[in-house]
Amino acid sequence: MAEKLLNYINGEWRESKAATYLDVPNPATNEVIATVPLSPAEEVDEAARLAKAAFPAWRRTPAPARIQHLFKLKALMEENFEDLARSITIENGKVLDDARGEMRRAIENVEVACGIPTMMMGDFAEDVARGVDEYMIRQPVGVAALICPFNFPGMIPFWYLPYAIACGNTVIVKPSERCPVTMQKAFRLLEQCGFPKGVVNLVNGGADTVNALLDHPAISAVTFVGSTPVARHVYARASANGKRVQAQGGAKNPLIILPDADVNLTTRIVTDSAFGNAGQRCLAASLAVTVAGAEQTFVPALAEAARSLVVGNGLQQGVQMGPVITPQSKARIEGLIQKGIDEGAEMVIDGRNPGIGDGYFLKPTIIADVPPGSTIARTEIFGPVLGVMRVDTVEEAIALVNSGEYGNMACIFTSSGAAARQFRYEADAGNIGVNIGVAAPMAFFPFSGWKNSFFGTLHAQGKHAVEFFTQTKVVVERWFESWERKF
Ligand code: NAD
Repeated sequence: MAEKLLNYINGEWRESKAATYLDVPNPATNEVIATVPLSPAEEVDEAARLAKAAFPAWRRTPAPARIQHLFKLKALMEENFEDLARSITIENGKVLDDARGEMRRAIENVEVACGIPTMMMGDFAEDVARGVDEYMIRQPVGVAALICPFNFPGMIPFWYLPYAIACGNTVIVKPSERCPVTMQKAFRLLEQCGFPKGVVNLVNGGADTVNALLDHPAISAVTFVGSTPVARHVYARASANGKRVQAQGGAKNPLIILPDADVNLTTRIVTDSAFGNAGQRCLAASLAVTVAGAEQTFVPALAEAARSLVVGNGLQQGVQMGPVITPQSKARIEGLIQKGIDEGAEMVIDGRNPGIGDGYFLKPTIIADVPPGSTIARTEIFGPVLGVMRVDTVEEAIALVNSGEYGNMACIFTSSGAAARQFRYEADAGNIGVNIGVAAPMAFFPFSGWKNSFFGTLHAQGKHAVEFFTQTKVVVERWFESWERKF
């Protein structure tokens, strides 16, 4: 029987009184694996109030003591690594190796957050005036709500959670209602880490649950990862309510390929970027921009590599690409492919109607001669579809990259250092790859989306996360007695 998912509030597993539970199907088989509650505003209220009540004592717990719980969490995540990775594959569809990579990234963030005693340190300046010292300390902000998407159900909550709690905040995680199972498992581990009641909370739900979090007065900080329209909404609504917010949105990632790029390596890397996780990464290659005739070599090479990818259930050995997340997502992607052809692009390989099992499968699709300004040149497809556009010069390629409304990632493939440097310098995107297809920052660097891929100032991970989850306090200090003795 499908598992009925619970909320975890104030150190207890609680059954939601939600009027609606959604089925969570395995996208590779269409089998229902769980049901998830759309938790109502009263349950958000309960979680927020209890998280706020837990905050003062947690904040007073010294940072070196707080991170002991994270060391325990790291050990438990390692022990349960395969189980967590399998859970990701079953609810999300990505192949097991990708799911393992995802969990590795989640653990890295726990490791980096264990450095909080150093990362949270302030600054001190002695004698800013005679006998006067000035210093800046970092203090936690309070309760943080972490709103997450479906495509990295095991990793994205960990872009934030370890830093937030290590800094002395309490948190409420709201996983995607489409992939909520892995967080349920992760919270079974968090439960064993000895956190005081109310420090880590899990509330399942959908849009109404999110809106209740955005409006709740006990919540001080909101992080969001998901599509651009919802990111914009979350940023606007939570900011209007006086909260600090960072909201990561969608993407349309271009990769520039120069004729001097290494053919074999580039083909392999671009194929993985475009079709890994069935194109459902926010750092998936969506457009290949070939320069000065590079398409003559690369389009046939990419087509051959894409055709050879084994598509199926990600739990099976040898499978290289899984399904997309829902039947609606599959239909939307198929519609966009058709739109591309209708608007004048040329089909190179057509992955529609692959005839694989009961899941929501597509095969890799490559569309060449994508007209500038057309729907598929601009729209985030979030599926295994690579469009190819041709230009004559690096300058034109950079101009094309910069004309897009998103700025999550842009990459260049070349053996020219000069071209790579020009690209790195001029490209309007926050994550840059040079001969890299998925330029995902390590946990100690910020995940730096730009333009419509990000709303806010401080990003996820590393030092940015520490700054986001703390507020600075500056103290200007004078002691008359000692001053008189001294002078
Ligand atoms: P989504 O926007 O549909 O959902 C994200 C979260 O928002 C979920 O928790 C969902 O419950 C909630 N939500 C959905 N509609 C809402 C509404 N109207 N009001 C309030 N809350 C709402 O995103 P998704 O489909 O789960 O994820 C895929 C998207 O996320 C893609 O656009 C992808 O590019 C993006 N993404 C971006 C990054 C990044 O780092 N920039 C990383 C991963 C995914």
